[in-house]
Amino acid sequence: MKTELTGLTPAEMTDWAKSCGLPAFRGKQIFQWIHRGADFAEMSNLPAGLRERLAGEAVAQPVRILLERVSKLDGTVKFLFGLQDGNCVEGVLMHYHYGFSLCISTQVGCRMGCRFCASTLEGCVRNLSAGEMLGEVLAANRYLRDRRTPGNGPESPDSPPERVSHVVLMGSGEPLDNYDQVMKFLRLLKEPEGILLSLRNVSLSTCGLVPEMRRLAEENLPVTLCVSLHAPNDEIRRKTMPIANRYSIPEILDACRYYIQRTGRRVIFEYALTEGINSGEAEARELAALLRGMQCHVNLIPLNAVRERNLQGVTEKTVSRFLRVLEEEHISATRRREMGDDIEGACGQLRRTTLQDGGISSGGA
Ligand code: SAH
Repeated sequence: MKTELTGLTPAEMTDWAKSCGLPAFRGKQIFQWIHRGADFAEMSNLPAGLRERLAGEAVAQPVRILLERVSKLDGTVKFLFGLQDGNCVEGVLMHYHYGFSLCISTQVGCRMGCRFCASTLEGCVRNLSAGEMLGEVLAANRYLRDRRTPGNGPESPDSPPERVSHVVLMGSGEPLDNYDQVMKFLRLLKEPEGILLSLRNVSLSTCGLVPEMRRLAEENLPVTLCVSLHAPNDEIRRKTMPIANRYSIPEILDACRYYIQRTGRRVIFEYALTEGINSGEAEARELAALLRGMQCHVNLIPLNAVRERNLQGVTEKTVSRFLRVLEEEHISATRRREMGDDIEGACGQLRRTTLQDGGISSGGA
């Protein structure tokens, strides 16, 4: 099998270069090229013969964009990323005032089984490697570069390159169910010779795998932890989230407190408002009581109804009422801005509809 270069640390890259009979400095050069999203053909300080030989032995960019959909509402871009083995995952690129935020996938599918989520309908196909996760970021960076300078022209000095500045692990998959590769990916993100992205700009979302949340707290990484809570008590949570049978809310909140204590960072709770399940005033009060005194923030998301699931989102009125109660109770909360509503922004939807509609031929739409 060909070596996947996006997954190598600088030291591993040097070892790989040596194993190809090259001097160590070639490893460093190749590392820099790879993290700029280059293919072998673009590595201009490598002899042409060497580039050809390496292309036979290694994969420079394991992720390519099969399909992209740009929202007419807000410019959000939804990508369908193709992997080397023919699998595909989704990513979403959002433009905020502070930069470009990319939501990436960590697994092909997911085995957590949340009833409202499209990513989990067919279970988990496989974990993504660290190199594939980084490959998603590099593919989005290439997309931004090519959009800015069509035909891969040089970057102009008066238009600085546009790059992904924030990464959220909220696409398909449960990141803490793919712990080691996710950790390796996070460390690759902050490599000085690579894209040098501050982990303060990274958010990781979990459905609440308690032992791994505690392990993450001990990694000394300033990542923002987001927890998909979606219920004020375990009885309601069990209705939509099978993981609630394994870990209770008190255990999850204990792990959150530990995370806050170790990292000094507040935790974000995600709460998808679902009609008739968790969205009443009583649930809002119960949630407020549960979270009182915690250094946290609640992100309210009106459930995005998925074709295959018989769960419903809520009206605007229900969202405002829920938010008002949390505000009255002095719980920091916001309604998550919905982006890319017209491009199937919700988890797993683009991949599913694309697969169902007969797939895509190579080269995109
Ligand atoms: N497995 C991780 C990350 C992936 S899902 C986790 O569970 O957190 C990212 C977020 O989208 C989670 O909060 C998830 O619960 C939520 N989500 C999934 N499907 C949704 C839907 N149909 N509508 C609204 N939010 C959804």
